[in-house]
Amino acid sequence: MSTAAGPGGAAIDALRAEALAERPLTALKSVGPRQAERLARLGLHTVGDLLFHLPLRYQDRTRVVPIGSLTPYTEAVIEGEVLLAEVVVRKRRALLVRLGDGTGSLTLRFFFFNAAQQAALARGERLRVFGEVRGGPTGLEIVHPEWRRVDAAAAVEEHLTPIYPTTEGLHQLSLRALTAQALALLDAEGLAEVLPAPLLARLGLPPLAPALHLLHRPPPEVSLAMLEAGRHPAQRRLAFEELLAHQLSLRALRRRTRAQQAPPLPEAAELSARFLAALPFALTPAQARVFAEIGADLAAPRPMLRLLQGDVGSGKTVVAALAALRAVAAGCQAAVMAPTELLAEQHFRSFDAWLAPLGIELAWLAGRLKGRARAATLAAIADGRAQVVIGTHALFQAEVTFADLGLAIIDEQHRFGVHQRLALREKGRAGARCPHQLVMTATPIPRTLAMSAYADLDTSVIDALPPGRSPVTTVVVADTRRGEVVERVRAACLQGRQAYWVCTLIDESEALAAQAATDTAASLVQALPELRVGLVHGRLRPADKEAVMRAFKAGTLDLLVATTVIEVGVDVPNASLMVIDNAERLGLAQLHQLRGRVGRGSAQSACVLLYHPPLGEQGRARLAILRETTDGFAIARRDLELRGPGEVLGTRQTGELGLRVADLLRDEDLLDEVQRSADELLADWPQHAAAVVRRWIGRGQRYGDV
Ligand code: ADP
Ligand code: MG
Repeated sequence: MSTAAGPGGAAIDALRAEALAERPLTALKSVGPRQAERLARLGLHTVGDLLFHLPLRYQDRTRVVPIGSLTPYTEAVIEGEVLLAEVVVRKRRALLVRLGDGTGSLTLRFFFFNAAQQAALARGERLRVFGEVRGGPTGLEIVHPEWRRVDAAAAVEEHLTPIYPTTEGLHQLSLRALTAQALALLDAEGLAEVLPAPLLARLGLPPLAPALHLLHRPPPEVSLAMLEAGRHPAQRRLAFEELLAHQLSLRALRRRTRAQQAPPLPEAAELSARFLAALPFALTPAQARVFAEIGADLAAPRPMLRLLQGDVGSGKTVVAALAALRAVAAGCQAAVMAPTELLAEQHFRSFDAWLAPLGIELAWLAGRLKGRARAATLAAIADGRAQVVIGTHALFQAEVTFADLGLAIIDEQHRFGVHQRLALREKGRAGARCPHQLVMTATPIPRTLAMSAYADLDTSVIDALPPGRSPVTTVVVADTRRGEVVERVRAACLQGRQAYWVCTLIDESEALAAQAATDTAASLVQALPELRVGLVHGRLRPADKEAVMRAFKAGTLDLLVATTVIEVGVDVPNASLMVIDNAERLGLAQLHQLRGRVGRGSAQSACVLLYHPPLGEQGRARLAILRETTDGFAIARRDLELRGPGEVLGTRQTGELGLRVADLLRDEDLLDEVQRSADELLADWPQHAAAVVRRWIGRGQRYGDV
């Protein structure tokens, strides 16, 4: 790594700086094998790691605060004279020490104390005290403060005191001593500055070394509030660099992929016309526009890398089928991957109904396909007889070889991580040739997240639902009124409509969820003897699950009791009522997905969110959002604010982003500049770009070398 293409001296400095970043922590004083093992538990192996291990928060012990100016819920150092010390016995025995400094007084409350401590806290003693001030029964007090006796001229700390994330057996004092050593080395040897000076100047951000210094040892005049909000320029500098690293890494991946060849898949006018003529509906303008965008990509000899976003029920599947037709017409194969067997089966049925009449050969592959049937399917995929292959992540497996994969379609992308997406890309690669890729998601992804997690993809959005859908009415009801809801189900089903009853659990255990759904189904069967009730959950044998779903779709079941396995993709237009038990347990995005299962036909549909009281202020506000809007983007945005990126993007993808300093929501305003800087670095400062990625993204996690 070199930071300056300048004279030899700069290059040597950069080499030394690199050495510091890579130097093992055992090179520091007092780090033996046991300490190194504890540090490793925090992911700290090198001096560089330690320098980037930033405090969680700070304490201000740099000044003595007059007691009269204290406010509750702040941490402060105070100093004063013991006015009174007494042991009182109310609910618990306690030593109460009244401390005054001329501006006011407060109480120090000790529940645990020995005779020596009691003696040291005697009237007339002068004390220096640190702790959190709270309101007590007789005014302000501090429970179990840190304290010591002082004379008048005792020194205070020179810096805000850092509190680091730590692990068992590793004391804050040890981390402080270690970071002090690392900072001394930083001063002596420096760390490579990976952002070019003109860029830093434009952004008004500080250089790296001072930023690290400040964050480990903030001077007393730094605003604690700013640090705590993560808005200090030193923090923004690091967050910026980290976001830039992710952006560059995904861009590099995109560039490498786009540099490969893909089979051009030109317009298939005749085949598409026959396909469209057989559909019972016309494409919406939104579908047509999006397919035009996809079509332009497919016609090119470079791999398409496109994300198709469309709210639940917006009609992505038919767009995917049109794309698959292009591959078939060009003599290539198309693969469609879904996250669950249920969805893969449903896609297979849709594609089969649409494409088989056109003489196209389809194949279905999932984990449960075994023995001779599996071998036959694998053979058909390998020799190219299977023109469109639909399946689960079983499509990734090593035994699957495509004769000539021209297009890979991944549905409900948020269930898969970036690495899985890449694996399917690799599947179709033959030499320098790479399949086109279409990634579909029903989770509307706020722009911020899309820019971060999908920087390697172009985006198309289906922004309108097919006509004739009546909006779903949503009501929020306490489960004490369960009886009324059961009656509502009865009434709907007796009118020939169908209903879902979804059971949720806090923990994700399939076994417990299955049990809860089974219990609920049993009680509903009892309450609704005239209805035909089905049950589906993740523990059922796939064949049984499929049989139940098929029966529900065919209308031979009135009510389907289910776990959240039905969350994505399931399509039964006659179902017009959905009840979600314990709705307060789910995220908004997930509730929105579930609700999208109804309102697919022309009947007026309803969604009942049953909650278990008491529901807190926040819970009430969250469910109200669903009552007020059906706009998936608005809901995702609120979910992002309330629950963070994990809920919206899926924990797997958020985990893969693995941000250490940056926070996608808090640092959202940096993202435009991150994009712009990524362009500049790649164009004008490629070595800097490489260094940024190396610093922030672990080798195993990196998507592509810059
Ligand atoms: P999603 O985008 O959630 O995957 P689907 O592709 O499952 O949505 O489509 C939802 C329903 O809408 C399906 O029953 C599908 O046949 C129907 N559909 C799709 N496009 C149209 C259209 N242009 N007009 C009417 N119905 C449509
Ligand atoms: Mg779908």
